[in-house]
Parts: sequence; C-alpha cells; structure tokens
Amino acid sequence: MAYVIDKNVCIGCGACVGACPVAAISASEDGKMVIDKEKCISCGTCYAVCPVGAPSSEE
Ligand code: SF4
Ligand code: SF4
Repeated sequence: MAYVIDKNVCIGCGACVGACPVAAISASEDGKMVIDKEKCISCGTCYAVCPVGAPSSEE
C-alpha cells in the first residue's frame, strides 16, 4: 500500500515534497508531483499538508 497523487488535482505547490518523512515525493516533467511507491510508508502527511487534497491512499 502506498499513497498516490492525482495529477488532475495537484497544482504543483510543492508543500508535500518537504513534508514527506522519507523523501518519496518528487516533481515529474509536467510539474505535478509523483510518489515513489517503493519509499512511501503511507503516513498520510502529504494528504494532511496538501491544499487541494490530491494525495490519497491506494490499496
Ligand atoms: S504518505 Fe507519507 S511517506 Fe507516503 S508520500 Fe505521503 S508523506 Fe511521503
Ligand atoms: S501538496 Fe498537493 S498540490 Fe501541492 S504539490 Fe503536493 S500533491 Fe500537489
């Protein structure tokens, strides 16, 4: 299980990048953020800090 960011919702503000405790989030070529599923520990912090609710948990 990991979190995923909905690219159609993400506005690329970058708030989640610095908030992630395991540095699993980085910017993709289109400026939207992507989560490395191998690193994500599903802590939910990215969802908590995101102003538009783009991250969500994926089973
Ligand atoms: S759920 Fe936690 S570990 Fe996973 S990407 Fe979000 S902030 Fe990082
Ligand atoms: S905090 Fe939300 S809107 Fe901002 S870059 Fe992360 S996922 Fe995108």
